Amino acid sequence: MAGFDFASVREIHHFFHPHILELTICRGREANENYCRGCMKPIGEGLAYHCQPCNFLLHVTCSQIPQQITDHPACSHVLCLQPQPWNYAPSACRCNACWQPITQRFSFHCSICRLDLHPSCANLPMEFKHPHDHQRHKLFLFFIPPYQNRLFTCNICHGVGGSWHYHCSECNYDSHVNCTQIPSIRESLLNEASEAVSRAYVNNGGGHMGGYMSTRSGPGHMERGFWE
Ligand SMILES: [Zn+2]
Ligand SMILES: [Zn+2]
Ligand SMILES: [Zn+2]
Ligand SMILES: [Zn+2]
Ligand SMILES: [Zn+2]
Ligand SMILES: [Zn+2]
Repeated sequence: MAGFDFASVREIHHFFHPHILELTICRGREANENYCRGCMKPIGEGLAYHCQPCNFLLHVTCSQIPQQITDHPACSHVLCLQPQPWNYAPSACRCNACWQPITQRFSFHCSICRLDLHPSCANLPMEFKHPHDHQRHKLFLFFIPPYQNRLFTCNICHGVGGSWHYHCSECNYDSHVNCTQIPSIRESLLNEASEAVSRAYVNNGGGHMGGYMSTRSGPGHMERGFWE
């Protein structure tokens, strides 16, 4: 795998931290009591990037979230990754896609569109065929509900929403982003990247990984298998 020689993954410089981050293996209590600054979930057992003096930790996958997205269909500008929500009281910032709060974690922001997105929500597929909830037609990601009152009723939880959602215009089927089981189209690519980091670590005498196989298995981490 090109680009994954050990030297290049053992130490990284991340744009949100002034010091070098070192690849380390987290175990036991330390793994469950420390949080990733990217997703604010427990770091979990396994490899992570660490700055020891600051106790700054990042999941390997969270370290790979790009600094900018330039081609998102919801924004004709540049979506920039922020270390924490932009310009709001921390409790007031919600993700435009899933309408869940974004507190003290990485998020994408465009000030012109007033758009804030969890990294995973910035990566939702624009269309896909649902394996069981709606098999007849493709579902399309809508940024604004296509109804006069700009609201939709979710076919899964029956709640009303005004955020991004998946829609089928033939059936007037709607579902919240978080109620929809979304196949993660780029999941395998990123997991490959994480696994390559793990392999490089083991091959270079970094120690046994024990039962630990990849950076995905941390508790509560990667609900959608990607950039959470
Ligand atoms: Zn993380
Ligand atoms: Zn530091
Ligand atoms: Zn924009
Ligand atoms: Zn979201
Ligand atoms: Zn719902
Ligand atoms: Zn349909």
